[in-house]
Amino acid sequence: MTCIFCQIVSHQLPAEFLFEDEDLAVFKDINPSAPIHLLIVPKKHFDSLNALDEKNGNIMTKMWMTAKKIAEQQNTQNGYRILINTGREAGQVIFHMHMHLMGGWGSRAKPGKR
Ligand code: 5GP
Ligand code: ZN
Repeated sequence: MTCIFCQIVSHQLPAEFLFEDEDLAVFKDINPSAPIHLLIVPKKHFDSLNALDEKNGNIMTKMWMTAKKIAEQQNTQNGYRILINTGREAGQVIFHMHMHLMGGWGSRAKPGKR
C-alpha cells in the first residue's frame, strides 16, 4: 500500500487525530495554512472527487456533517473554509480524496483570498 492517507487512516503512519469512526478520520494537516487546518479523510480510498458516483457519494454528506461538527468543537463556527482540491491543475497533491477544514482566525491574522 503506497497511499500515504490510506496508511494514516489505518494507523500505519502517525498523524494528530481529532476524530475517527468506521468511515472517516480527521487529523491535522502537517503543513497548516491556517491556525486550524484539518483534513477530513474517508477510510475508503477514492483518488479524487471524480471517482465518486451515486453509489458511494453518501460519504460526502458524512464529511460535510463532520466538518460542521468539528468546526463547532474547535470553536471556529463563526469562520471556516472547506476546500477539496480535485486534480493536479487545482493543486491536488495527495490522490486520496480529502476535505480541508481551515479556520481559527478569530482575532488573529485574517485569511487572504484563495
Ligand atoms: P491537497 O493539495 O492534495 O488537497 O492537500 C494535501 C494536504 O495534505 C496538504 O495540505 C499537505 O500539507 C497535507 N499532507 C501531506 N502529507 C501529509 C502527511 O504525511 N501528514 C499530514 N498530516 N498531512 C499531510
Ligand atoms: Zn488512499
